[in-house]
Amino acid sequence: MLLETVKLTASFKLDGSIPESLFSTYREVLGRLLDCAWAKGVTSFKRLKAEKYHELRARYPSLPSHYIYTACQMACSIYKSFRKLRKRGLAKAEKPFFKKQVIMLDDHLFSLDLEGWEASIAVENGRVKLKLLHGTYHEKFKEMRVGQAWLVKSEDGFYLKIVFSKTVELVEPNGRAVAVDINENNVAFGSMERVRNIETVERVIRTAYFLKRRRLQSKPRLNEKPLLAKYRGRERRRVEDIYHKLANKIIDETKKFKASTIVLEELANMRKRIRHSKAINGRLNRWSFRKLQEIMEYKAKLAGLNVVYVDARGTSSLCPICGGKLSPNGYRRLKCSRCELEEDRDIIAVKNLLKRYKMNVGASAVHPESPPTTGGGKG
Ligand SMILES: [Zn+2]
Repeated sequence: MLLETVKLTASFKLDGSIPESLFSTYREVLGRLLDCAWAKGVTSFKRLKAEKYHELRARYPSLPSHYIYTACQMACSIYKSFRKLRKRGLAKAEKPFFKKQVIMLDDHLFSLDLEGWEASIAVENGRVKLKLLHGTYHEKFKEMRVGQAWLVKSEDGFYLKIVFSKTVELVEPNGRAVAVDINENNVAFGSMERVRNIETVERVIRTAYFLKRRRLQSKPRLNEKPLLAKYRGRERRRVEDIYHKLANKIIDETKKFKASTIVLEELANMRKRIRHSKAINGRLNRWSFRKLQEIMEYKAKLAGLNVVYVDARGTSSLCPICGGKLSPNGYRRLKCSRCELEEDRDIIAVKNLLKRYKMNVGASAVHPESPPTTGGGKG
């Protein structure tokens, strides 16, 4: 039986506000802990807590005590990454600091009511209850475990970021797979027998919001940041909505085909996608690509399917039948120089991914000690 833990981070916008004093007090506490960690070289949560807990408890009596615990955890991890950067000569500052408006929560500091879409959060004098906006996007979380969480203050309001997890049972790999080739404006997926191509309207949405932002920035106004953030949020939700529907469709097809595995491209090969997107920003595009893969990966696993990443280099330049070199043969079509194959480039990419997956499966059957390629997507 193949068990796997699926972890998902959700960001809920809160309808209302968290007292500013909670953020400023937490930052102070964190600052004191960081100073101590740095001065005494403490990287262990237990030691840092032993050093500072009583002092901080006395200094900030109205702050719920678990905030001191989570600040200790944050301080340790911030100090540890500072030390790593320092060793590599990459830390600019003399000592570690934290400027972001982020508060870490544990299960004593917040509770969730996913039926009423409401969060209850401990503050300095009791608790506040806040509605979670856009809750309907998050139906799937109702059956998952709640893990760590963070309160984040951003330009356009307050967010509650939560890590959810669930243990799922994956089906035994049966050699049948569906590969997915993601492009800027279309996604091709399928088996050796049948490849489907679905157009995404992502570019249209991205361009519309890009123009909207530019118009806004060209007009002088007092503060455009909240409005820009609002647009960014809307754009992200619209694009993610497309991704969710697309992922559902691919998973449905995979099940219909009775395949056990979804094959995705390994992140290493990003070139073909970045090339097209100078106007809108290559980084956004990179985000999109990875985001769609992430959505596909967790949805597939929740559906009991295996997810495998394979190296996608050269998937549109080599023939999936004979390995010969392909050359362009008219609009989006490629022709093999060695055999008679002539096909759409997206279909060829899908077939090449499947071929590589089969080769990997074959290789690991011959050398059982070689590391499995499954699930290595998350860094
Ligand atoms: Zn060929």
